[in-house]
Amino acid sequence: MERLIEGDRRERMKKAASDDPMKLQRISELVLKHSIWLLIAWWTGGAWVLYFSDAPTLVKDLITFQGPPLAYIWIAILTATTYTLAGFMREQVCVYMCPWPRIQAALTDEWALNVTYRYDRGENRMSVKKAAELRALGQPAGDCIDCKQCVAVCPTGIDIRDGAQMDCIQCGLCIDACDTVMTKIGRPTRLIGYDNDINIHRRQEGKAPVYKLVRARTVTYAAIIAVVGGAMVYKLATRSLLDVNVLHDRNPIAIKLSDGSIRNAYTVRVLNKHGFDRVIAIDIEGPVNATVHVVGADSVTPDRPMIVIGRDQTEELRLLVTAPEENNPEKSIPVKFHVTDIGLGVVASATDNFVSP
Ligand code: SF4
Ligand code: SF4
Repeated sequence: MERLIEGDRRERMKKAASDDPMKLQRISELVLKHSIWLLIAWWTGGAWVLYFSDAPTLVKDLITFQGPPLAYIWIAILTATTYTLAGFMREQVCVYMCPWPRIQAALTDEWALNVTYRYDRGENRMSVKKAAELRALGQPAGDCIDCKQCVAVCPTGIDIRDGAQMDCIQCGLCIDACDTVMTKIGRPTRLIGYDNDINIHRRQEGKAPVYKLVRARTVTYAAIIAVVGGAMVYKLATRSLLDVNVLHDRNPIAIKLSDGSIRNAYTVRVLNKHGFDRVIAIDIEGPVNATVHVVGADSVTPDRPMIVIGRDQTEELRLLVTAPEENNPEKSIPVKFHVTDIGLGVVASATDNFVSP
């Protein structure tokens, strides 16, 4: 985003060093940049909150200021943290907060191809002119001209020429930067590249580099990825497209009606993960001679409550289950809630308890 608005890193550093607050162009650049940062932060913060809710309904509620206060608070918190962390604390997030450098350090070994500065080629560092003079005399000269472009582009601000470091996130930006420099000065590219110390030492000894891609570690990782990936694909392919969750009312847990029957209330959440509307019937199993009533349902048949759930929607229902006490003398009876897609015949179930007061 900064590159689009303010130019490349060199230009940005120049502008930051000579910031003139009175310059209209500079002010408009900063306002535009921070506005877009805030917009992205708000968008990602909002998306995170929507993930935990019925997104289309919540978006509608948020726009009409009908959303729950907690949703506004969380969106504000996540927007502020994203704006701060992604805008002003990038290196700190990469180095101190992100677990990836630690994981990466545990995964790697001496044969792994990590971003590596080829010091066998780069040292001793010197200017282009000096290197050309030495080469003309048949003497060795390093390819690194110490331009520090690799450091300037590094998102974590490290110098890869100091050797492998935990802070390196293997983004490869220093490779591209150095390749550009090498091309400009007419030297072979990949002074920084994916390599390892074993090959650098082999080259120093005049031997050809060796690449061991298949080894116990890589085979094990591939097997783990295949198993975990396969399990995820299997779960995704066979996931239920109809789901139900039940929550028993806590207070009161049960009430006794004037005719002597017992009533329990539940909050039932039905999830339709299909891309079309579905007619769902609700049945219960457990308490003897029990009847079930859905409060405020779209359509209720006398003997079997039915509701319509929109595509990709979650419907939260209040269910009242009533049963005669004489038929259900136990203090607590397991009750199963079955939701059935009338069209497809698919059933999802959840269990709770029917209790006496
Ligand atoms: S970009 Fe390449 S030439 Fe420039 S300092 Fe880094 S390693 Fe050396
Ligand atoms: S790969 Fe990325 S993080 Fe690592 S040194 Fe190069 S620019 Fe920095």
